[in-house]
Amino acid sequence: MTMLRDQIIFDLIQKEQHRQETGIELIASENFASKQVMEAMGTVLTNKYAEGLPGKRYYGGCEVVDEIENIAIDRAKELFGAEWANVQPHSGAQANAAVMLAVLNAGDKILGFDLSHGGHLTHGSSVNFSGKLYQPSFYGVEKETGMINYDHVDEIARKEKPKLIICGASAYSREWDYERLRTIADEVGAILLADISHPAGLIARGLLDDPLEHCHIVTTTTHKTLRGPRGGMIMMREDFENPFGIKTPKGVVRKMSSLLDSGVFPGTQGGPLEHVIAAKAVAFGEALSDDYMKYVLQVKKNAAVMAQRFMDKGYHVISGGTDNHMMLIDLRSKGDVSGRDAEDALIKADITINKNMVPFDSRSPFITSGIRVGTAAITTRGMMEPEMEKVVDLIDDVLMNKDNDNKLLEIKEGVNTWMNNFPLYK
Ligand SMILES: *Cc1c(COP(=O)(O)O)cnc(C)c1O
Repeated sequence: MTMLRDQIIFDLIQKEQHRQETGIELIASENFASKQVMEAMGTVLTNKYAEGLPGKRYYGGCEVVDEIENIAIDRAKELFGAEWANVQPHSGAQANAAVMLAVLNAGDKILGFDLSHGGHLTHGSSVNFSGKLYQPSFYGVEKETGMINYDHVDEIARKEKPKLIICGASAYSREWDYERLRTIADEVGAILLADISHPAGLIARGLLDDPLEHCHIVTTTTHKTLRGPRGGMIMMREDFENPFGIKTPKGVVRKMSSLLDSGVFPGTQGGPLEHVIAAKAVAFGEALSDDYMKYVLQVKKNAAVMAQRFMDKGYHVISGGTDNHMMLIDLRSKGDVSGRDAEDALIKADITINKNMVPFDSRSPFITSGIRVGTAAITTRGMMEPEMEKVVDLIDDVLMNKDNDNKLLEIKEGVNTWMNNFPLYK
């Protein structure tokens, strides 16, 4: 089989690699997967159909991918101390869709963390399947503290009586009280789902409280702090009987593991991406290593230093700091640059962040008053505490000179030279 090499696409991939190498990556949901993680993805495994689960497939020739998927499952279970895992969800959103399909009926009530306070689209937003198929209500943070008030969550849960309570967020920098949430869920007879897409790597290595101890079901992405390929998974510490009594056609009450497996396939997906599952296995193996432990420790230290530096420079960090790898900054506290203008100015200096709503934002989601930054990616590049201070100083310099293109160009050149000190893919 000979094919003309697609130079157009490979040139663009080269260009993207150059962009990643020369800039400062602060998007909290991004990271740099290792060479071997990427290598596993670019293999013949992409050719294989394997609908079903290891040992129970709808296609022949699955002996090898069965071994690979079983290793991915075993490593995921070891990493999180889970009794059960499904590594097939194509993404975090797919993992959440599979869980909701498994435990809910259309029209059921769900309770999630407000998107505008840091939650995720898949936790009940009106533009997402979760808000269209189910009836959502939301809890948020307190204006004064920027933190969740669990008495308030309790109150909403008692009033709404949701069947599913979702915790976890895309822009919340504080520890979660999973134990309290489980008490609330038990009170109203709800299933408790933790979506740990962002801090999964820190949770895996014990640097944050363990959601699996208290939450019935846990979903995550594999590409954020976990530093694997783009993908998702679902886990449980312990399997349990579906409490809502949904029975099979033969009248058997199904175990949650079997409902969740069906929620993934055939519920919401077709064939699993075995090349990505192989890369997940590689990433989980890496995440079990001493090197990764050092990495997540540094991610957390770096975030704390970065948050402090922002505050020292006069920026309001929501909740006054961070317990994990990320933070949300309310720009109304200094200069009142909008999130969109900040994002646009920073990209001119090759510093990538994302604009983000802050709790009680006065601007729209397209403009916003805040930015979200995280340390997962720059820590992978080898940056330590002193570099965090310099990064904040660079951001401040950009924001204070956002309309001075000459100055922004000068900062960009400095950034590009500096990043040579932190080689990405040697
Ligand atoms: C990133 C994220 C997701 C979605 O992950 P995708 O892989 O982009 O679908 C879901 N939930 C939370 C909390 C996230 O942060």
